[in-house]
Amino acid sequence: MPITAEILTVGDELCRGEITNTNSQHLAERLTELGIHVRWMTSTTDDADLLDQAFSRAAGRADVIVCSGGLGPTADDRTVDVVSARLGVEPVIDPDAKAKMERRFASVGFSVTPNNIRQVRVPAGAEVLANRAGIAPGFRVRLPADAPGRSADAFFVPGVPRELYAILDDEILPRLRAAAGLLGATATGVLRVFGIGESHVDHRLSGLIDGTAGVSLHFRIFFPETLVKLVVRDENEARARATLERLLEEARRRLGPACYGGGDDSLPSVVGAALRAEGATVALAESCTGGLATHLLTTVPGSSDYVLGGVVAYANAAKTTLVDVPAALIAEHGAVSEPVARALARGARVRFGASYGIGITGIAGPGGGTNHNNKPTGLVHLAVAGPNGERHRSRVWADTRDRVQRVSAMAALELLRRILLGLADDDQGGTR
Ligand code: ATP
Ligand code: MG
Repeated sequence: MPITAEILTVGDELCRGEITNTNSQHLAERLTELGIHVRWMTSTTDDADLLDQAFSRAAGRADVIVCSGGLGPTADDRTVDVVSARLGVEPVIDPDAKAKMERRFASVGFSVTPNNIRQVRVPAGAEVLANRAGIAPGFRVRLPADAPGRSADAFFVPGVPRELYAILDDEILPRLRAAAGLLGATATGVLRVFGIGESHVDHRLSGLIDGTAGVSLHFRIFFPETLVKLVVRDENEARARATLERLLEEARRRLGPACYGGGDDSLPSVVGAALRAEGATVALAESCTGGLATHLLTTVPGSSDYVLGGVVAYANAAKTTLVDVPAALIAEHGAVSEPVARALARGARVRFGASYGIGITGIAGPGGGTNHNNKPTGLVHLAVAGPNGERHRSRVWADTRDRVQRVSAMAALELLRRILLGLADDDQGGTR
């Protein structure tokens, strides 16, 4: 029987849509990695009755509850009181958390108010979970449901994400691992894919994990990329790792060149590593992306070794004066055209004296643009000029302005990656 869990997030701000519920997502991901089946994710307001109902329902159906929020100092923070009432005990002050709070306040010259004391209470008899990132401690109780004979192993943490992460790592996950016993080791790997959509990724990986016990496969869109995550559970850590490596290798083989990396790789870091390996440099002339591709490349520490520079050649005149795109070429083909993209790439390469030049020109939208007769919004031309010639590609992205800019910048980096690594231009042109 799998261990089941319910994640409960508490707060008026959540239910009014004022904050994004990142706590649920984080908790679900971490519990799933442990092999715990998260079956329910519930959010409720700070109302004491609703909170109590949510606790009873969760304790009635899940083995484990992790609840975030409502542990703060103010009157709307009710979790400790509601849990205490359900257990039939009084809230008590946790002496360690109180001493820590007093030390912290004294060091900045604040005095402790009765409100603050609320924050260091836990239900009497609860197991206290230390909070290295904040004041309110977490706690663990066996929480009974209204339904007779039903209860859950329940963990409570503050809503502040930083504090939740700390208590989860330090206190909750080790306990859950111990309680679960059977769970053994977990090995996790991520592959990063750009250039094919999620459905294609899914198709290429279909059947990958069939016949291998204890493995799960997840997809996540991280626009414009797709992340593929493999989680392997096994009693034996070395075996979990070996299974993971085998599956990652097979997945990479099936995904082909569209899988540009794994783990902590990013497309800019992979392109940077390829440039570095070749002792090459790059310069950019960007129009519709407004410098985004240059920015992405420079997010990588040490990128000054290979990024020489970039210009935002937005107006036609700027294309001509900054990177020598002939005015006649623009007049003949339009600014958004293959010849102009190629000329931007050549111009950037020559003007900066770089090994590779990247040119990007397109119609990010949402307007069609008066100069672009018969050219659809979202049309982008990309080119790379290098020591062995030029490569060009064009795509039409039917999307919002910021997404067209983002995918265009990434596609330009992808084009350079393929040239540097000697990879073919397959996969729908290296874009989504
Ligand atoms: P505090 O001591 O700050 O009052 P708390 O335990 O009472 O902590 P909440 O008041 O519910 O927690 O939330 C504190 C802050 O943490 C919120 O204002 C919000 O910024 C953030 N937060 C709360 N719940 C979530 C959530 N589910 N996802 C992301 N952020 C959250
Ligand atoms: Mg609060």
